Amino acid sequence: MNLLLHVCCGPCSLYVIDDIRETFKDCKITGMFANPNIHPYDEFQRRMENAQIALKNKDVPLVCVDDFDMEKWEKYEQDRKSRCKMCYTIRLERVADYAKENGFTHFTTTLLVSPYQDHEMIKEIGERFADKNDLIFVYRDFSKGFREGQKQAREMRLYRQKYCGCIKSLYEK
Ligand code: SF4
Repeated sequence: MNLLLHVCCGPCSLYVIDDIRETFKDCKITGMFANPNIHPYDEFQRRMENAQIALKNKDVPLVCVDDFDMEKWEKYEQDRKSRCKMCYTIRLERVADYAKENGFTHFTTTLLVSPYQDHEMIKEIGERFADKNDLIFVYRDFSKGFREGQKQAREMRLYRQKYCGCIKSLYEK
């Protein structure tokens, strides 16, 4: 099992990596930071740097995509649910494409540790891109470890953000 883990931020990755290692004993994990939805740019950089620290601590390699894009989210005019669907789709498609091109067999996302994200929607989108690319999307409800992950993040002195990521969510908080 060769799994590409979409990493939305450092704190969210910590428990997820532990859970995957515990559940799938022979799993090789590689992280991928692909989050054009994080705004403004200094926040994007900060979360990317935190992800690098977190995955180094867990001894997991990390691929970082510097694909910052504020305009698409800023100009998006539909309701929040549609916007989040667009946001999950962009990120999971990018990760599935990379997984396909680089010989991974499975993929999943650290978004699934958050009780604030739409798990059903993420599962549906992940499975759609898995089918399209001959991959397996690993759906697990990692949210039971949300507090444990936050505790580890505090111990590592990682930055813990207060809003989801896009410029609109910054003002919705
Ligand atoms: S609220 Fe979060 S998931 Fe929804 S569009 Fe913004 S960054 Fe993406």
